[in-house]
Amino acid sequence: MLLSRLAHVSQEVAATSARSRKIALLAELFRGADADDVPIVIPYLAGRLPQGRLGIGWKLLGRPVTPASEPSLTVRDVDARLTAVGAVTGTGSQAERGRLMGELMAAATGAEQAFLRGLLTGEVRQGALDAVAVEGLAEATGAPPADVRRAVMLAGSLRTVARALLAQGPAALDDFRLTVGRPVLPMLAHTAASVAEAVDKLGACAVEEKLDGIRVQLHRVGDDVRIYTRTLDDITDRLPELTAAALELKGDRFILDGEVIALDGDGRPRSFQEIAGRVGSRVDVATAAAAVPVSPVFFDALSVDGRDLLDLPFTERHAELARLVPEPMRVRRALVSGPDGGAAAEKFLADTLARGHEGVVVKALDAPYSAGRRGASWLKVKPVHTLDLVVLAAEWGHGRRTGKLSNLHLGARTADGSFAMLGKTFKGMTDAMLTWQTERLTELAVEENGYVVTVRPELVVEIAYDGLQKSTRYPAGVTLRFARVVRYREDKTPAEADTVETLLAAHPEVTR
Ligand code: AMP
Repeated sequence: MLLSRLAHVSQEVAATSARSRKIALLAELFRGADADDVPIVIPYLAGRLPQGRLGIGWKLLGRPVTPASEPSLTVRDVDARLTAVGAVTGTGSQAERGRLMGELMAAATGAEQAFLRGLLTGEVRQGALDAVAVEGLAEATGAPPADVRRAVMLAGSLRTVARALLAQGPAALDDFRLTVGRPVLPMLAHTAASVAEAVDKLGACAVEEKLDGIRVQLHRVGDDVRIYTRTLDDITDRLPELTAAALELKGDRFILDGEVIALDGDGRPRSFQEIAGRVGSRVDVATAAAAVPVSPVFFDALSVDGRDLLDLPFTERHAELARLVPEPMRVRRALVSGPDGGAAAEKFLADTLARGHEGVVVKALDAPYSAGRRGASWLKVKPVHTLDLVVLAAEWGHGRRTGKLSNLHLGARTADGSFAMLGKTFKGMTDAMLTWQTERLTELAVEENGYVVTVRPELVVEIAYDGLQKSTRYPAGVTLRFARVVRYREDKTPAEADTVETLLAAHPEVTR
């Protein structure tokens, strides 16, 4: 396919607000495409590069190049040239990248140049395009749209399904059925600010413990058990306990979704780091298993007795799970509904936290399993921890944040009146905050060393974080997980900032 055709259709799609017209335009485009074109055409239409980021910014694109008078570039040609630009490394790479980009731009017409500029700078990004492309593909190939959507969900890739559909027609969709032994991307959760909000949104729902371990998808076919991570890596060999547990179950063809955790002698969960360390160690599995034995806790069933359950409501999937998996291996849950639902859910959350788990996941009872999606029917609720910390230093930002002091070094008070650094964050800041903190921190600067500006420890900032983890890099032996700025606390002095001691006391799960 010629790039000029794609550039033209892209513009037409952007110019119309009617969804049906967008679908018709894409269907026509796909009908004229080769199967090998679509894996490039689809991301280009959405304003993305199949290669991900290539780091070709305005600097390389800025120079005007005389456009070609006639279109000759094909999309595959462009894709190959851009791959080549991305592959240039080493000394003189900038000049070489510039040369290759110059050649590409010279081969493009004016309209194509404009399209490429938009694509490479991310300016033509169209977020909702993939959903429209699914409909367009269905229309172009005569496949039912719902079947295409499901195939994309199971393949975890629109491009893969598109290529197969164009090459083989609707029959290709048979290759993307849920198959025991072939992992699918797990369903993900959105965040809700409180259980009350979650219950309010979902109505009748299950409130489940949120366990802080490693997500696992377990497949069993006969005596063959396979375990996959959330990114579909096969970790079967690292978790012999799970294979043993799966072989105990009364069924020999199923897919279960769950979390692997480790419990201490009192039945309380061990820290995420210990579990991650255990799951990550592949050399001496037997020794690792003896030191940190793990157990699976399942919360969903995707397939039982070879029957695909994905489209069933959660209630029915859970009934299948309960038939197969005995209670201790299922996640603890409460069913709530009606006006008292919120209060019952609050109580369950409080009990869950008291047992040492990180929060709850609230799930709609009537929702199907949306593989690979952050569905609105699963809402996670974790108590947000906040701390008032002191800014010890800040790093100059880059990209959009060039010229701004961005990454903050955060400290808590210590017993001797000094500050111990707990970690860094550049998250949660608004543009106004960035401007403000750059000015304020510049006033407080005492030393500049490369990109790090050390400041007088006077500014207090409220930080939200998800938990603590052990760290050898920081003096208190711990660091914050997912720290982000909430706001500056100019009303507080550094002497009122939180201390390392109170922080450690608040997280016995890490210090135990
Ligand atoms: P997060 O990683 O914070 O986005 O939270 C979602 C993750 O929580 C899932 O990917 C699971 O690994 C984990 N999780 C723990 N308990 C549950 C549960 N009961 N239901 C669903 N996910 C859970």
